[in-house]
Amino acid sequence: MTGRLSAFLAKLSGFWRQTPSEEEPSIAKEREVQVQRRYYLIDIPRFEGASDPPPLSWKACHPSTVHRFKAQLTCPKGHGLVLKGHSIDARGRVYPSVVCMTDSCEFHEFVRLVGWDFGPLA
Ligand SMILES: [Zn+2]
Repeated sequence: MTGRLSAFLAKLSGFWRQTPSEEEPSIAKEREVQVQRRYYLIDIPRFEGASDPPPLSWKACHPSTVHRFKAQLTCPKGHGLVLKGHSIDARGRVYPSVVCMTDSCEFHEFVRLVGWDFGPLA
């Protein structure tokens, strides 16, 4: 088993050595961009007003429905989103990432609701 594993590892390192060196910087750069995109977390401030929250802010749903509908969020282009299908942890981190459902909109981010004080909601 150990022999087969080390043979496999030798083959693998041989593969990486065969990768043309001039391609490495661009591959590395591309991976970095993808990783940054995946883990980029944006803080969304809380809106306390009575109207819909302005772009890039959130508002808790009515106290009687907050456990079901959680929070209302507005994307940077002004589209309203309800986080009823998401989980929110005690610190306001929303899982999974938030996607704007409007066709022409590319908003898709991991977000944290700053000022979230309703505890964890699954
Ligand atoms: Zn949008």
